[in-house]
Amino acid sequence: MELLSQTIDRWPYIHSALGIDSQYLKNRHMPCPGCGGHDRFRYDNLEGRGTFYCNGAGDSVYGDGFDLLSHVHGWDFKTCAEEVRKLLGFEPGFVPTIPIPKDVVKAKKSATSDYANQLWQGTKPDELWRPWDEDVTSHGYAIKKGIVGAYGAARGAVTGRLVGEKADCLIIPMRTLSGAFRGVECINGEGVKQTFGSKGLLILGNTLNKQLPIYIVEGWADGVAALNYWDDVIVIVAFGKGKQDKLAEWLHHNRKDREITIVRDAA
Ligand SMILES: [Zn+2]
Repeated sequence: MELLSQTIDRWPYIHSALGIDSQYLKNRHMPCPGCGGHDRFRYDNLEGRGTFYCNGAGDSVYGDGFDLLSHVHGWDFKTCAEEVRKLLGFEPGFVPTIPIPKDVVKAKKSATSDYANQLWQGTKPDELWRPWDEDVTSHGYAIKKGIVGAYGAARGAVTGRLVGEKADCLIIPMRTLSGAFRGVECINGEGVKQTFGSKGLLILGNTLNKQLPIYIVEGWADGVAALNYWDDVIVIVAFGKGKQDKLAEWLHHNRKDREITIVRDAA
């Protein structure tokens, strides 16, 4: 189950981002963030699975990180999974909440926009649990880069001048900062890249947390590496040369409260 593997060792971050105060996320007895009390709760986070137990009103409740979200918020499992998936940025329809810098992403429609759209639509899962993760992580380029999750990418057959005929490619969506679809970057098994549609951005990390520093990288694999290295950050992949600086400049002017770092050649 792809989502589960993505959450290992990230639960304190996931829980605090999804509304559980970090004061509760410690391995000692304390009041329960779900049902109160005095010292009935303990967040032991065994094997990085976000585990807890709560002695409630005589009945004990325990489980993994999803169960804790359920205990605190009353969500069913599907809702927990959707919230976590959205938070981690693996959701294809994921819409970040920062407005568009017009000088970074131009409005012009590319000649290959329709094909880009068709490629991305073709990868959309028709059910929540389609194993996207395995599609991505078993691809030659992901293996070569040591990437162990989907990180916004999908996989499909792509035909193009650079990648080849019906090439087995990773397909990475590019959007504006407000989430409008712009195009895709396709990468074949040999690591050859080709853009369809227009270039744009891919945002990874928890955009709900407005305090997190922003790291700007140039490519998808660098973005994944940066997110795994720094963990509690937002990573914006700015596809294409020169975009990193433009985006950083825009953010410096428009998001003065945020710490912004350009990462060059991170992978
Ligand atoms: Zn409780």
